[in-house]
Amino acid sequence: MIKLTDAAFYFKQEPQQIEAWNYLECMLEPEIMEAFATMYRDKPPTPPQTELNPSSPMSHLVTPNFTYSELCNGGQEARRFTGQDQCAVATELCEFLEILRDKFGPIKITSGHRPPAINASVGGASQSEHLYQPGCGAVDVYPINGRGQEMEDYCDKNWPYSVGYGMSYRGFVHLGIRDGRPRVRWDY
Ligand SMILES: [Zn+2]
Repeated sequence: MIKLTDAAFYFKQEPQQIEAWNYLECMLEPEIMEAFATMYRDKPPTPPQTELNPSSPMSHLVTPNFTYSELCNGGQEARRFTGQDQCAVATELCEFLEILRDKFGPIKITSGHRPPAINASVGGASQSEHLYQPGCGAVDVYPINGRGQEMEDYCDKNWPYSVGYGMSYRGFVHLGIRDGRPRVRWDY
């Protein structure tokens, strides 16, 4: 069952979420919406202080605005990490996403962890950073409110590892880390 508190918790200004919220406002008594708003405006959910591990709940906040679920394409159990080293790389990526979020608003992760079977089924490269092999990891992202090209340029200047320029062709920027942490740039 989806709770109203979860709805607020995961709210990222995505169009379908705004639509759902507007619908709720029409359906519920104004006093309920107001009480709810007051409660959560004054007391926002507290981020857990523990670090991400493979068996963390999907709702675990990796960093203040990004959940484990978002790294697993919407909480797919088959995409869970299997090692703590993968969690560490994912956390580092989310820390950079927080910087992007401060500058460009809510960030959508379109693809995070792809275990081997999933990577093969989507036709991913055999050495894809999305496999999170030792020392590697990646996310594909775009800013929900626009300014994608600007964000890509910012990543190019400020992310020292892998950047795949996908904004104009694929609608996302690939941000990654590969073994040895070289600076890598490519077009899709
Ligand atoms: Zn990618």
